[in-house]
Amino acid sequence: MTEKKEYDPRTPYQLPFPKEALDEIVIPDAVPEDDRLWVPQAENVWFRPLCLNRSQGYWMNLLKVRKSGVLSRHRHPQPVHGFVIKGRWHYLEHDWVAEAGGYVFEPPGETHTLVVPEGVEEMITFFQVNGVMCYVDPWGEVLGYEDVFTKIELCKKHFESVGLGADFVDQFIR
Ligand code: FE
Repeated sequence: MTEKKEYDPRTPYQLPFPKEALDEIVIPDAVPEDDRLWVPQAENVWFRPLCLNRSQGYWMNLLKVRKSGVLSRHRHPQPVHGFVIKGRWHYLEHDWVAEAGGYVFEPPGETHTLVVPEGVEEMITFFQVNGVMCYVDPWGEVLGYEDVFTKIELCKKHFESVGLGADFVDQFIR
């Protein structure tokens, strides 16, 4: 038993952090004013990187879509968490609709077809995607994939092209 010390409750933690610990990421403008922070990934589809975690193989980003119709059909070997910020969307495989303010858990093993309905001018959703997203045809044939490394590459190319520099992405990488 250690002796109980008297201290002011507002005393910050007094010891150094582990020296191997990574820096925190703080992004006040997660939904950015500066459009250059949106990385194009298809026509009228962009993502805004927040945390690109290469050490654990996941990424946190905002997905922004300004078109309606089918966006992609994909399989998740690992879980996804989503929080809808603006607009709404649904999957052809489910009868629910994800709407602004709503949370969605996509369990491992899901394969679904993302649709933004007519009349939605813009949808923005925060997604945490683990591992890999496999783009597939309706019978599961893999057409392509995305992982934290393809995301980092897209960011580098885009940030370079808009004058922010390829290493602008470094602040999001852990
Ligand atoms: Fe999904």
